[in-house]
Amino acid sequence: MQLYTKILIGMFVGILAGFLVGPNSSLLPQDAVKLSKSAKIYTSAAGQIESPLATGLKSATITGNKADGDWVEISWSLSSSDILKLKKKVKSDPKLTSLKTAITAYEKKPHTITGWIVNQEPDVSPFASWGSWLIGATLWIGQLFLALIKMVVIPLVFCSLVVGVASLGDFKKLGRIGGRTLLAFTMTTVVALTIGVSLANIINPGGLVNDEDKAALLANYQEDAGDKVDDAADAPTLTEQLLRIVPKNPVKSMAEGDMLPIIFFALMLGIALTMMQVARSRPVVELLDGINQAMVMLVHLVMKLAPYGVAALLFDVVGNTGLSVLIALGAYGAVVFAGLMLHLLLTYGSIVRFGAKLPFKDFLGAIKPALLVGFSTSSSSATLPVTMECCEDRLNVSQSVTSFVLPLGATVNMDGTALYQGVAAIFIAQVYGMDLSMADQATIVGTATLASVGAAGVPGAGMITLAMVLTAIGVPAEGLALVLGVDRILDMFRTATNIVGDSAVTTMMARLEGDDLQIMTDTQDERNKRRGVESRADEEPSPVIAPATTAESEEDDTPALS
Ligand code: ASP
Repeated sequence: MQLYTKILIGMFVGILAGFLVGPNSSLLPQDAVKLSKSAKIYTSAAGQIESPLATGLKSATITGNKADGDWVEISWSLSSSDILKLKKKVKSDPKLTSLKTAITAYEKKPHTITGWIVNQEPDVSPFASWGSWLIGATLWIGQLFLALIKMVVIPLVFCSLVVGVASLGDFKKLGRIGGRTLLAFTMTTVVALTIGVSLANIINPGGLVNDEDKAALLANYQEDAGDKVDDAADAPTLTEQLLRIVPKNPVKSMAEGDMLPIIFFALMLGIALTMMQVARSRPVVELLDGINQAMVMLVHLVMKLAPYGVAALLFDVVGNTGLSVLIALGAYGAVVFAGLMLHLLLTYGSIVRFGAKLPFKDFLGAIKPALLVGFSTSSSSATLPVTMECCEDRLNVSQSVTSFVLPLGATVNMDGTALYQGVAAIFIAQVYGMDLSMADQATIVGTATLASVGAAGVPGAGMITLAMVLTAIGVPAEGLALVLGVDRILDMFRTATNIVGDSAVTTMMARLEGDDLQIMTDTQDERNKRRGVESRADEEPSPVIAPATTAESEEDDTPALS
């Protein structure tokens, strides 16, 4: 079975499991409660004495006892790390004498603690403990897959870009690709925003949210929204970001995974290598090319885990998204989805058809592995190795183009994110009953373009920079709470759009540079053991020390260095 079919099955299993056996599933008994920071837990239903050992409690089991309908009895026990945390709290605040006594008593005789809560949203929300346990038991597979694929990103981008630039050997060409790429990125982002803003104005999804849903959403997601606003306040300004492109210490940038400085350093190093005597530069380029090839091989190996990884990741996302929030925000989500689809078909369809001169359907088929991994991980940065592989192997784009356009795209070109931010900003303003002038709408296009450039290619990044767009048009940033409930789901669709956008621009640049683009079909891919994401790792490993050069070994698929 082909890899992407396995990934599709993994996605299906993950989504289905999320609905059927996730924490919000109605098929499982809702036997536990999540507690917000402000939830109060009392020692009895009648009395108003707060239970000291419930300090910082995030969830508890429902014991089944109910007093006059509103009060519910819950129970929980303390792990050794919970006890240490509570002790730390007592140390920092000596006034907490009742907590201190309670800890001492608990340590002498550990027991299940019981308490009472008033069962009302948003302080208390019920869930199925089984579903939660299942997610806890499987999520590590998804996290392992993500960690393994992220492990490859920095060395792959760095080595591939240095080798790509060194093999170009022509600064004019580099400048030309750079200029055209940035122009294409900016134009597609503005088009995406225009589509999003127009749709949100025409359909008016904010007008469809009733007051009850609005109050519930604001109350439920208030805390998380506050965290996002704090994160946005800490974000660097545009000038700071521009200055950060030049790394003071390239090793530090690599250690921190800071993509733009890495791209800058790799470009400069590649240029310097082309200016040196070939005899001196060649060993460096060959070494980096060897590492690059090894990283590609690692991607092939890691992708074998993809079907299981995506299943675990999707199980977590779908399982933790409540159906009620999906219904309340259905119209908003539908507008974002429709906008993304329009942009995909119209904008990218035209770029690929007329710019790259490739059939759009076949193009989508070729980048399918990247699309599916991007959708499941919600991270264009983590998917980068797979996107690079798809463009090079399955579309035959030259390494000098992919190694430059794709890492840059994964960092600054996020059309899906921009479109979503446009719709979200207008939706929030509509729910608050605010009228946005034409100038406000133009401000949304301008700030969301920058906000999408500033967003990192990681899950939820677009939500943080959305706070800046809201502030720019005078909409309360706390309004983020209105859209937070479905953000993780929409993130999957906008990340997939971001990845298609980067790949579409890459193929157009490749065509403009005269690359011989060829689409490799799935059947060709299956037969071809030397190209394609799924097959290469099954090959016989080549000896570490290559035999003396023969006509055969000269013919391997290592890209030419010059
Ligand atoms: N998750 C998106 C990406 O990685 C960014 C975002 O919109 O949050 O492309």
